[in-house]
Amino acid sequence: MNRKHKTYGHFIAMVVAMIVGAVGISAVYQTARNRPPIAYGNLSPESIAKFNKKMAEAGDQGSLFVLEQLVLSQWDNENDYGAQDTAGWTHIEDDRFIVYYKDDLNNVWKQNAQLTLRLANEAIPQMKAVFGKYTYPEDINGRKLPIYLPPTRSQYGETISILYGGPTDSEGSLGMTIYKVSQSGYLPMGIVLLKDIFDKNADFCNSLVVVLPHELSHYVYASLFQFSDDCVPMNWVKEGIADYVAGRNPQVQGQDSVDFIERYCDLKKDFPVEKGNFSNNQYWAGESFFNFIKEKYGKEKVNEFIQSTYTISIDSVLLVTFPNKDMHREWVDGLKTNAPSNQAIALTNE
Ligand SMILES: [Zn+2]
Repeated sequence: MNRKHKTYGHFIAMVVAMIVGAVGISAVYQTARNRPPIAYGNLSPESIAKFNKKMAEAGDQGSLFVLEQLVLSQWDNENDYGAQDTAGWTHIEDDRFIVYYKDDLNNVWKQNAQLTLRLANEAIPQMKAVFGKYTYPEDINGRKLPIYLPPTRSQYGETISILYGGPTDSEGSLGMTIYKVSQSGYLPMGIVLLKDIFDKNADFCNSLVVVLPHELSHYVYASLFQFSDDCVPMNWVKEGIADYVAGRNPQVQGQDSVDFIERYCDLKKDFPVEKGNFSNNQYWAGESFFNFIKEKYGKEKVNEFIQSTYTISIDSVLLVTFPNKDMHREWVDGLKTNAPSNQAIALTNE
C-alpha cells in the first residue's frame, strides 16, 4: 500500500575552496561574480568540510567537494564538455540555454532538444515567482546553462561523471544538476537528463515536463543560496521545492503516509531519506509541506518561506515566516482532515 518513490535526481554540490591569499581571493571574486561577496567570500576549508558532510548525510551520495581554484574562463561555454570536438555532441542554443544532444538518422534527439529548449524557457516565469528571481547568463559571467541529453543510459552515467569530475552514483536518478560553488562564485556545470523521461509512455511523474523543472529549480536555488556557515541547504527544502515547482505529487495518499510525516518529518531537521517502506521522503513529503502552505496560506507564503532559506537557518525561517505557530502540527492536522480513511484506501487498492 505504501507508495514507492523513485530517486528523482541527485543534487550535486561541489563546493570548492581556493587556498590562496585573501587579496587574491577578493580580486578573483570581484571579477567573477556580479553580486557582493558576502557568503562565498567567507567560505573557509572548515565550511567546505561542513557542507561536504552535511550533503552526504542528506542523501547526496554523488556530492564531491574539492579544493580547486576557479578562473573566469571556466564560465565560458566554449570550454563545455559538450563543445569538445572529440565528444561527439551537437547542440541548439538560445540566449539562455545550450542543449547538447547526439545526431541520429531520424532526428529524434534534435526534436527532443527542441522540446527541452522550449520547456526550459517556459519554466522561467514560475522560477521567478517561487525563487524571487531567475538566474540568467548575465548573473553568472555570461554562462548559458548547458543541458545534456545523452541517448543511452551508459552515456548518461558517463556524462554525469565527466561534468562532476570523477566517478559518481547516478543509478536510479532521472536527472542531475551539477554545479560548483567556490569563493569565485557559482558555476553550473550543467543538467543531465536520462533518456527514459523522453519516452512517450513515461509516467507523468517521471517525464520531461516534471524532471526538467525539477532540475532547473536546483540550478536556480543553488545559485541564490548563500552557503554561509549558519546556512546549509536542508534536503527536504531543496527537493521538496523542486517537486512543488514541477507539480510532481499533488497529494499525499494514505493514512500510513500521514503517519509517517507525523512521526518522522521534523521540519527543523533533514527528513530521513529511507525509513521502513518509505524512501525518497525528502521529495514527496517536502512537496506535501509546500502544497499545504499554498492551500492554507497562499502561494506567496511558499515563496516567502523559500526565499528566506537562502540566508537564515531553518529554525529562523520557521520563526520569521510563521511566528508563534507549530507548523508540523498544522501540516499533519491538515493532512488528516483531507486524507481518505484507511478503509477507503484499502478498497481502492483491491
Ligand atoms: Zn532533485
